[in-house]
Amino acid sequence: MRWISASTTFVSALPKLHQQALAALAALLLVAAFLPSNENSVSSTPLSLDHLIDTEAPIFDAPELSLRQLRAPWAFDKVPDSETLLVPAPSIGPNSYSYIVRSGDTLGKIFERLHLPQKTMYQLLETDVNVLALDNLMPGHTLVFEKQNQALQRLELQFSLDHKVVYQRKGDGFEFSEVRIEGDWKENLIRGDILYSFTGSAKKAGLSQAEASAITQVLKQRVDFRRDIQRGDKFEVLVSRQFVDGEATGNSKVQAIRIRNRHNISAFLFEDNYYDEKGRNLEKAFQRYPFNGKYRLSSHFNPRRRHPVTGLIRPHNGTDFAMRIGSPVVTTGDGVVTRVVRHKYAGLYIEIKHGQSYKTRYLHLKKSYVIKGQRVKRGQKIALSGNSGRSTGPHLHFELHKNGRPVNAMKAKIPIAVSLTGKKKSAFQRQLKSYLAKIDKPSNSQLALNQSDKAKQSTL
Ligand SMILES: [Zn+2]
Repeated sequence: MRWISASTTFVSALPKLHQQALAALAALLLVAAFLPSNENSVSSTPLSLDHLIDTEAPIFDAPELSLRQLRAPWAFDKVPDSETLLVPAPSIGPNSYSYIVRSGDTLGKIFERLHLPQKTMYQLLETDVNVLALDNLMPGHTLVFEKQNQALQRLELQFSLDHKVVYQRKGDGFEFSEVRIEGDWKENLIRGDILYSFTGSAKKAGLSQAEASAITQVLKQRVDFRRDIQRGDKFEVLVSRQFVDGEATGNSKVQAIRIRNRHNISAFLFEDNYYDEKGRNLEKAFQRYPFNGKYRLSSHFNPRRRHPVTGLIRPHNGTDFAMRIGSPVVTTGDGVVTRVVRHKYAGLYIEIKHGQSYKTRYLHLKKSYVIKGQRVKRGQKIALSGNSGRSTGPHLHFELHKNGRPVNAMKAKIPIAVSLTGKKKSAFQRQLKSYLAKIDKPSNSQLALNQSDKAKQSTL
């Protein structure tokens, strides 16, 4: 764990003299902070999610100890310059500055560039352990720093127009909160013809890359997109897209898909899962527990948990199981490994994406048997449990996320049954009827065509 030694070096390498110099500098620079900015070239609007690229860089890269870091504790105390890319954010507060995450950035690097104390970063990471939002920084995300009395008072991480997380200083740490805006969801029916590849044709018809990949993902069990789809086949897709204050957030849900090829293939979204027209689940089922056998549940899911000592809200977004170090951990569903990361507090952890709606996380591991990008099957052994990171004893912390939000993995309605039956099936059939009415509604051009046909017939 490279960063531990680096941070120890940092503290011990900081002589008293420097600390005094630092204080003097800070006072001088405070005056400079209120000079007008000459760097406004950076827009504070986050990029659409479609354009984001995973930096792949671990956030916990040890920032190298540099002279610059010793020079000034706060980049805010200078006129923002091209190096820091800090822009005043008066709409958030008088002492707020925004920073847009760039390619290659890590939290460590950002804190170093902004001359922010490492201690503050660790306090934030401690708060973030059950959320891991700061562990998912991507280019285009915006960080808003608010200072007060030479200390970071508040940090806001804006993922998109509709979603941000806030770390607010309270006592000796930070308290976490999450803000989501529901916005307006607007339905769009998109029709198209296959001209070449499905994805290419879908994009030409007006679907985004993300929507096109969501469709191929949903149908991958049923369609070989290279062999079964031919020029001249047609498709209809009903999508619902999110807007906040009239601006598209980049979030969308594919609600219904129909591809009219030799076979006619369709998929319909119902309670966060996709089904075919007969109500058969198109996504693989999940298992409830991330292990075989029985282990004691040692701590429940509780997003409003308070720390017993500090009284700060420390969400517990997972379920803990007391497990001896080295116990096999299995994935609860088919999916793709998206992260295998070492975190100061979460320890070694794995994140797996299961289709469009679900994600699972496994924390405090001893050893991982999978790597990023690997496909896994439900029940596959992915790791050995451990006690890594900040952990009160050997255990597995298991999280289930549904549509980007942590849910109680022990209670959530997960796709377990393969087909819908009973009341569920009737509800699905009603939903299906409404989808089909929308999909089958003739387009304006078709209406015109039909009318001219009728006109022709009547003249005969
Ligand atoms: Zn836990």
